[in-house]
Amino acid sequence: MSSADHFRPDYAACRDHFLNLAKESGGLLRRAANPAPGPDGTGLSTEFLRLGPEAAERALIMVSGTHGAEGFAGAAIQCAWLARGGALPNNLAVLLVHGLNPFGFSNLRRVNENNVDLNRNFIDHESDRPSNEGYAKIADALAVTVLDGPERAERDAELKRLASEMGLANVMRAIGGQYAAADGMFYGGRAPVWSNRTLRDYLPRLLPNVKLAAYVDLHTGLGPSGHGSLYCYHPPGTADYDLAGAWWGKDVAAPTATINHGKTGNGALQALAPARVVCLTLEFGTLPFDQVLAALRDEHALWCQGNGHDGRAVKEAFRLAFCRDEPEWRAAVVERGLQIADQAITGLNDPAFG
Ligand SMILES: [Zn+2]
Repeated sequence: MSSADHFRPDYAACRDHFLNLAKESGGLLRRAANPAPGPDGTGLSTEFLRLGPEAAERALIMVSGTHGAEGFAGAAIQCAWLARGGALPNNLAVLLVHGLNPFGFSNLRRVNENNVDLNRNFIDHESDRPSNEGYAKIADALAVTVLDGPERAERDAELKRLASEMGLANVMRAIGGQYAAADGMFYGGRAPVWSNRTLRDYLPRLLPNVKLAAYVDLHTGLGPSGHGSLYCYHPPGTADYDLAGAWWGKDVAAPTATINHGKTGNGALQALAPARVVCLTLEFGTLPFDQVLAALRDEHALWCQGNGHDGRAVKEAFRLAFCRDEPEWRAAVVERGLQIADQAITGLNDPAFG
């Protein structure tokens, strides 16, 4: 089986493939049932699979499906890694988290059952939430509630006008998470959602002795097609940024100043404390940014318009904005994902580090 063959067409098939490989692996599998109903009665769950001993002091954690439908690529990487097999160094565990946002994965949404962007939800909800004036400015034009017609055309034109007035950097900042409009886009939520609580619950139970970990959250939709960009959570000048560079090399990018709050790795940092956790987002490009944003807006409009609308074309365009069907794209994604995993394991196993 080639590496591209680990992609599956829908959430249920991705999960079945993962579960079959998990059973063969002999690892410890735990399943958390998500209370939201899945499409066509599918039960939704997040799987946690640990390879290696409970006593491991070092661990690689790889997460798929934080952004729902982005999970096809992440799941394929996890399955390719499992299928390849091989022994792990002593004292090292690998924890695979499959479908962290199973509702979004199964329903082809980026957000979860509460319309929450999970990768903006890991903030301290007891403190003041980050404000985002840029989002408020573009919200009406961006978060469209209809798929077509004159009102939609007006909103599209307005968004174009605002984007050229504000510049791309400010648009990126505006869509970098907001905490005010629950029915809007890129909404970070008002409290820790199910996937947030589940991740923080399972990590310390499955890795009770971990002292040093690499946390890699697998995403798609940003950057050049098929290219895997590594974004480090930790800013340059910190020991954790330097360690990421030592493990993964010079192409580790600094955190983007615009989108740097509420990400899932913050849950790992908190739940595994006082362990040292080096966190990265691995982001695979699919289509040009404007096409990805168009797919996101259409899917949001479909969600707003609700029942009675045939949304198949919108959902298919959405899937293709986050997972490409070309075998070359799929092979490149899996190869890069395996490379990142191998580099992490080599780095974690080196006593000179950490
Ligand atoms: Zn994402």
